Amino acid sequence: MKRFKHLEAASVEEAVAALKEHGSAHVIAGGSDLMGCLKDNLWMESPEAIVNLKTIPDLDEIRREDDGLRLGALATLTRIAESEVVREGWPCLAEAARKTGSPLLRNMGTIAGNICQQNRCWYFRYPDKLGGRIDCVRKGGKRCLAVPGDHRYHSIFGAVKKCIAVNPGDTAPALVALDARVETDRRSIPIDEFFSAERGAVSTILEHDEIVTSIFVPNQAEGTRGAFRKIALRKSIDFALVNCAAAVTMQGGVVNAARICLNGVHNNPYRCTASEEYLVGRELTSESAAEAGRLAVAEAKPLLLNAYKVPMAGTTVADTLMDCAGQA
Ligand SMILES: Cc1cc2nc3c(=O)[nH]c(=O)nc-3n(C[C@H](O)[C@H](O)[C@H](O)COP(=O)(O)OP(=O)(O)OC[C@H]3O[C@@H](n4cnc5c(N)ncnc54)[C@H](O)[C@@H]3O)c2cc1C
Ligand code: SF4
Repeated sequence: MKRFKHLEAASVEEAVAALKEHGSAHVIAGGSDLMGCLKDNLWMESPEAIVNLKTIPDLDEIRREDDGLRLGALATLTRIAESEVVREGWPCLAEAARKTGSPLLRNMGTIAGNICQQNRCWYFRYPDKLGGRIDCVRKGGKRCLAVPGDHRYHSIFGAVKKCIAVNPGDTAPALVALDARVETDRRSIPIDEFFSAERGAVSTILEHDEIVTSIFVPNQAEGTRGAFRKIALRKSIDFALVNCAAAVTMQGGVVNAARICLNGVHNNPYRCTASEEYLVGRELTSESAAEAGRLAVAEAKPLLLNAYKVPMAGTTVADTLMDCAGQA
């Protein structure tokens, strides 16, 4: 790992000023993703400084407000998973946090770090100390190595700017299903607009000197049921092959509104809008859930090695919806 300055910010303003001063700097929260990126020398320019956010007071609160839930950027996944407030009002988010990584990772990992993490494509993450740097498209090169290579965990919904790496996060689909907003030091971003695979070795639309301060999750309408499912190779610790979160509002036995999001299947979290539209006005039964699952993957364009993910994603959507129906 190359040497860097370690700066401890006492406030959000100080952290932003440090990022402005050091153009190549990155912020660190739990460090569970960032340290791997530093070790593998992921960025074209090695950061001259790392700005520690954990020294900023009160950035880790979990608070119920009149119109929703406020999660400080530094709230850890363990605290979110265990919070009575979150479990009662926004259970699919608590479940997504509970299914992220291992206990150790959840103790270190923060909600902001979880939604800002880099993708896990093994060509992208290849450590440059092992036989030299692999400069794929996402790292400023010309080629994607995964398309002709091993893409078994990659996108089934095509490429963004020639890259087929997937967004690997577990809380991201829950926050999309719950229609959250990401609050930064300068603006409020609807979660649907937050993720971006178009900007090289970053995964969000954040400016270089912009810091997530909190995430706001609105109160869910009366009759809303939420659920989260994750399919991974190992149960104890693994990234999702596919995960899904849904928030379904039922009135008089029929679906009034639905937000459904898959992840691990595309560069950004993937809203299943065709499934959402189909469900409105229908009863949530095993038949309608199966049809919503089929519609969720109707536009899939899998590659040679990842076609298995198509039925997996469709079934996960249907199962997540049935979890919602089971709570009714
Ligand atoms: C072995 C292993 C298993 C894992 N398993 C999972 C898994 O199952 N599911 C999953 O979703 N993730 C998993 N992760 C990824 C990661 O650990 C988690 O996503 C974790 O929540 C990241 O949070 P952090 O606070 O440690 O982030 P950090 O590593 O500190 O930061 C991650 C990124 O976010 C940026 N960042 C952090 N906070 C802010 C902020 N407030 N404003 C702006 N930018 C910010 C950092 O600059 C960095 O680019 C795993 C990681 C490892 C090493
Ligand atoms: S999928 Fe994306 S990150 Fe992976 S090799 Fe291709 S361009 Fe790079």
